[in-house]
Amino acid sequence: MADDLGRRTTRHAVVIGGSLAGLLAARVLAEHAEKVTVVERDRLPEGPEARPGVPQGRHLHVLIEGGQQALDELLPGFTDELGKLGAPKMGIPRDMVQWQNGRWFRRSAATAHFFTGPRAQLEWLVRQRVLADPRVELVEGVETVGLTGDSSRVRGVRLRERGAGVDKKTRTLAADLVVDASGRSTKAADWLADIGAEAPHEETLETGLAYATRVYGSPVGGPDTDALGYYVVPNPSQVYGGVVLPLGDGRHLVTLSGLRGDEPPVEEGAFEEYAKRLPHPVIGDWLARAEPESPVYGFRKTANVRRRYDRPGRRPAGFLATGDALCAFNPIYGQGMAVAALNAVALRRALADPGRTPTTRVVQRALLDSSRQAWDISAGADKKMPGATGDAANPGPLDRAVGWYLGRVQQRVAGDPAVGAAFRAVSNLTAPLTSLFAPSVARAVLFGPPVETPAEPPLRREA
Ligand SMILES: Cc1cc2nc3c(=O)[nH]c(=O)nc-3n(C[C@H](O)[C@H](O)[C@H](O)COP(=O)(O)OP(=O)(O)OC[C@H]3O[C@@H](n4cnc5c(N)ncnc54)[C@H](O)[C@@H]3O)c2cc1C
Repeated sequence: MADDLGRRTTRHAVVIGGSLAGLLAARVLAEHAEKVTVVERDRLPEGPEARPGVPQGRHLHVLIEGGQQALDELLPGFTDELGKLGAPKMGIPRDMVQWQNGRWFRRSAATAHFFTGPRAQLEWLVRQRVLADPRVELVEGVETVGLTGDSSRVRGVRLRERGAGVDKKTRTLAADLVVDASGRSTKAADWLADIGAEAPHEETLETGLAYATRVYGSPVGGPDTDALGYYVVPNPSQVYGGVVLPLGDGRHLVTLSGLRGDEPPVEEGAFEEYAKRLPHPVIGDWLARAEPESPVYGFRKTANVRRRYDRPGRRPAGFLATGDALCAFNPIYGQGMAVAALNAVALRRALADPGRTPTTRVVQRALLDSSRQAWDISAGADKKMPGATGDAANPGPLDRAVGWYLGRVQQRVAGDPAVGAAFRAVSNLTAPLTSLFAPSVARAVLFGPPVETPAEPPLRREA
């Protein structure tokens, strides 16, 4: 078989990992393959519940606009259904009290919206929609432990049952195409080495960011406000972060973040105490008025990691990577789910492109390209964090000039609605980075003085 992932040759595709990236890839592959098997190591819950294979699922997850658009393209009507399930949709900057770079954002008209709510609910909805397709089969409670084939072509996967009292012998499942969607801890490098192929170079950039998250009920008393959430954004000179967002059922998810050496604690009481490190007491005061309803969950695997399958190397045809297994981001920028969906849209376009044979290399490059903007945002900002490590932490030739310009953008996003709108469109992955340099934005950034911002947390929306 030629190095071709196209419609005529791919009879059976196997996707490793049944989370967002895997399910969305399966959705697209079902349009081309006779059968798609999604292999998931967890036994998946009936309902929208957290599960061990996705430990980040207990932490705050927002679905930004680029992800909403991609999901609606892949699964028409998806965001309407998500809203009907109760996921809150928040307008930014209108609905949130936000502190960033020493300024409070004006709560002017919303120019972007994101969904909050439990990640498990979002994944469950994707799962229902994708598995309704009879061409997609889920094999659960089964772990992929390797590949079959050789360095020129992958021919399937090696699987092992999970759980007590099951047969631990491995079995093979043949496939014309294997897609790795097993997340940021993927073992693909070992799997490739085992069949004599080369692992991709891993570009990394780690700030040592750590999350701690806890569920709270609604606060009692306190100032009269129409704010739906609170967000203190960390930056290089103030490294602590705090977010309060509604879950849609009267409860809230609160995440505190800090860097290596002073991570937020998971012990009872210490979590609330840690909020005092934030540059303003607004979140600490909120916590003092609300009852906790869960333990505190910690999370520390937050490095940016990009696997460069696009670079030359002895790699087999018939093997692709998507989602976090391809490119995982510092979660603080809220991009990973959106990129998983954008990867699937890129996969769909590459497979359907009449002008180009969808070879493994061509399709893998298209997937990487669809992660590029999110990487540039996340890695670009993280380079400036104190103590950032990894090969992507080294400044590039343009970093200084771009950094100077973006510094001026940052001084204006909180107060200037036009600059704020442009910045939000870029960070929501609905406009290219270059739109920040459009003449109307550049004029305000280069020549306009920073617009005045509220002196205190703005508790009410602007009229
Ligand atoms: C703390 C935190 C907060 C985040 N917040 C946001 C946010 O606000 N907004 C946002 O868009 N993104 C956020 N993300 C990113 C987001 O969680 C991921 O990008 C998203 O879930 C896409 O993941 P995925 O499907 O590629 O991998 P995952 O969701 O990690 O899923 C991998 C799947 O593969 C399975 N698996 C793993 N190994 C094997 C194997 N060998 N065999 C079979 N199955 C296997 C796992 O069980 C799991 O189901 C956050 C991430 C973290 C860590």
